[in-house]
Amino acid sequence: MSDITRRAFIQLSVKLAAAMGLSASAIPRIAEALDEIRSGTIPVLWLQGLSCSGCSVSLLNSDNPGPLRILTRYLSVLFHSTLSTATGAVGMEIVRNRIDAGGYCLIVEGSVPRGMPGACKMGGDYFTDALLQAAANADSIIAAGACAAFGGIPGAENSPTGAVSAPDFLERNGISTPVIRIPGCPVHPDWLVGTLVHALKFGVPDLDAQRRPRMFFSRLVHDQCPRFADYERERFAKTFADEGCFFKLGCLGPLTHADCSLRLWNSGTNFCINAGAPCIGCAAEDFPQAVSFPLFTKTLLEKV
Ligand code: SF4
Ligand code: SF4
Repeated sequence: MSDITRRAFIQLSVKLAAAMGLSASAIPRIAEALDEIRSGTIPVLWLQGLSCSGCSVSLLNSDNPGPLRILTRYLSVLFHSTLSTATGAVGMEIVRNRIDAGGYCLIVEGSVPRGMPGACKMGGDYFTDALLQAAANADSIIAAGACAAFGGIPGAENSPTGAVSAPDFLERNGISTPVIRIPGCPVHPDWLVGTLVHALKFGVPDLDAQRRPRMFFSRLVHDQCPRFADYERERFAKTFADEGCFFKLGCLGPLTHADCSLRLWNSGTNFCINAGAPCIGCAAEDFPQAVSFPLFTKTLLEKV
C-alpha cells in the first residue's frame, strides 16, 4: 500500500460497499478483496472490439483513489488494448501467452463484427478469433459497456459489420461461460469495479434476466429522478433549457434501468438530466435503437 494511505483505502472500501448496496459489516471483506486484487489474484485481460474506447476513458476519469488506480495498481491487468504500451506483434505475443496460461477474468469492451471479421483486427489477427480463444480459457467474462453488452452503436440496424454483443457472439460459438453484462455508454466505473469486487469476495452478484447485476440495474432512472415531481404534476419542459420533466423531449428514463440518478457520474458530480439533457437510455438493451431515441427524434408525442 505504498502509494495510497490507509484512510483512502478504507474510504474506497466504504464507497464500494455503498455502490454495491451492502451494509457497513461488508467493508472489512471489501478491503480484504481489494488487498487480494492488489496482490494480483485477479488477473484481467481487457480486449476491445468495435468501440470508441469511451468505457476505458470513463474508468480513467474516475476519482482518486479510483478505478484508474485499481486498474493500474490493484488489478493485475495482463493486457489492455488502449492502456498497454505493447502493440502489434509484441502485444499479440503477450495476449497469446496470457491466453495459454488461462485463469483470468476477461473484460470485453466493444461489440463483435460477426458479419465482417476484417473490420476489427488485433495485430494481424481477427478480433473475433482472439476473443474466442480468450473466452475459452477465461474463468469469468464481463461485457463492459453498451456495445459489448448489447451491441450498442456498432450493432445498430443495417450496420455493414453485422456487429453483435459479446455474449451473443460467444454463445453462437459454443462458449458456455456465462457473461455478466454491465451496459452503459460508457460503463460507470462503480458498476465495473463493484461487480469485480463482489465476484471475488461475495460470489457472482445477483443478476437479472439480462445477466446485469441487480444492485446497479434494478431501478428505473425515472423513479429516482429529481424531476419526477414535475412528471407527476405534468410540468413538462419545452426546451432543454427549461425547468420541468423532459418526458415530452424524448426522455427514456421511464424505460431505462440504471441507478444514475442516485449514483451520479464524474465522481458524484452530475448526471444527464441534471445537466439539461434527457436520458437517452444508454444502459438499455435497445440502445440506440429505441423508437423515441432523443438524439435523433424530437419528441415522444410525435411518435405515439
Ligand atoms: S426527466 Fe425523464 S427520468 Fe426524469 S421524471 Fe422526467 S421522464 Fe422521468
Ligand atoms: S441517465 Fe440515462 S443516458 Fe444518462 S448515463 Fe444514465 S442511463 Fe445513460
